[in-house]
Amino acid sequence: MAFQLISLPYDSEALAPAISAETLSFHHGKHHKAYIDKTNAAVEGTDLATADLETVIASARGSNQGLFNNSAQSWNHGFYWHSLTPQRNAPSSDLAAKIDAAFGSLDALTQQLAERGVGHFSNGWVWLADKGGTLSIEETHDGDTLADLDVLPLLTIDLWEHAYYLDYQNRRPDYLKAVLDERLNWEFASENLARGTTWKYPA
Ligand code: MN
Repeated sequence: MAFQLISLPYDSEALAPAISAETLSFHHGKHHKAYIDKTNAAVEGTDLATADLETVIASARGSNQGLFNNSAQSWNHGFYWHSLTPQRNAPSSDLAAKIDAAFGSLDALTQQLAERGVGHFSNGWVWLADKGGTLSIEETHDGDTLADLDVLPLLTIDLWEHAYYLDYQNRRPDYLKAVLDERLNWEFASENLARGTTWKYPA
């Protein structure tokens, strides 16, 4: 069964003005779709054709860079759509306690996410993850992912220019500020923490 381009969990205009409908429609309908299509083309007729996306990613890591890039980017974008929300929300009490323990406060965490995201060179992703019980900020370059690694991803923000160029041109700090202030889905992060296992790309 081929991998599907999952639907956005909100209307395409729902994240404006932080992320416009135009950006979201291109990002989802063109970029994410292309990663899915290329993943499907690469696994068709192989023994990975019936595997789940996480298995494809793990299998391709270090052995098939093209398939790894496209499958990891397919997963990363699904995770990113869920990391955003039209309605500002708050971490669960469990997540809030872990944030306070690791960073001091939610404000301090968002400040550090902004700094890491701004400082990340070129394309990639900035993540909040649980590493062995302690929260940390992680960065991955290009299409790399945490999906198949021994950490629990809680949230991610896309740092590729295609995520913000139509709205902010080169002003990544402004995109990150808008997302961090208004659009980060702390309920999704809380669900990931409570489940304790890595989110799965829907079949
Ligand atoms: Mn992207």
